[in-house]
Amino acid sequence: MRPSLTAGLVLLFCGIAALPAYASDIPKAAAQSPSAVLPKVKLVEPRLHLAKGEAGAKSRVALTFDACMGAVDERILSTLLKERIPATVFVTARWLRKNPQTVAVFLANSDLFEIENHGENHIPAIDVAVPVYGIPSAGSPEAVSREVGKGAEAVIAAGFSAPRWFRGATAKYDASSIDEIRKMGYRVAGYSLNGDDGSLLGAGSAEKRIAAAKDGDVIISHINQPTHAAGQGVANAILKLKARGVEFVRLADVETIGDNDTTAQRPGLF
Ligand SMILES: [Zn+2]
Repeated sequence: MRPSLTAGLVLLFCGIAALPAYASDIPKAAAQSPSAVLPKVKLVEPRLHLAKGEAGAKSRVALTFDACMGAVDERILSTLLKERIPATVFVTARWLRKNPQTVAVFLANSDLFEIENHGENHIPAIDVAVPVYGIPSAGSPEAVSREVGKGAEAVIAAGFSAPRWFRGATAKYDASSIDEIRKMGYRVAGYSLNGDDGSLLGAGSAEKRIAAAKDGDVIISHINQPTHAAGQGVANAILKLKARGVEFVRLADVETIGDNDTTAQRPGLF
């Protein structure tokens, strides 16, 4: 059994998504705590994949990376730069503040890197108070608005194009927060392949998962954990996908399909 405090702290810093083992532990842990009264809210973790390409075209995948907080994983960044592989990177305001050198690299290679919004302070964009993997959610529509809006402002202030996509910490939402984020003008970025389980996978496991990507996959992994083993696996897998002839695309450059109304065309919305 994994120590829950350690898991919670690790998740606080790497901040993601899709860890079924932890997810199934949360209600039990909460039930044991007399002070924890969880509101009834249905959280969703939307899926996103690329629209089908033309028949006979090369397999396409989108590499998406979260930069939650912390530093940059040079194993991944240098692979992308050396191989000239495009990617979409979701950054928080706090990560931007702490990584000016990498920001400069992103700006100098705008043909490769699409920079999108991962929020201001890496707070789950859920408008009711509920912990996700031990991280307290925004807890109100106003706090969701701040997390999204201030994150976008930081991306623009750092010199990047105005973001069109938002991915919240933990990649979980409720239906009304998705609606709120959409009305703010953003698509909500799910994924179809979890490449690194919040940067907690071993190198071999991460490599195997990502190298097995199929046509149309949107892969999520982390570029902010240079000391974790997972990053080496991510870098290795990118080389394997390239060797397989996969075409890498950015979310800005392709048609995408997301569930939970995260990308559907609506009047006045991107
Ligand atoms: Zn994150």
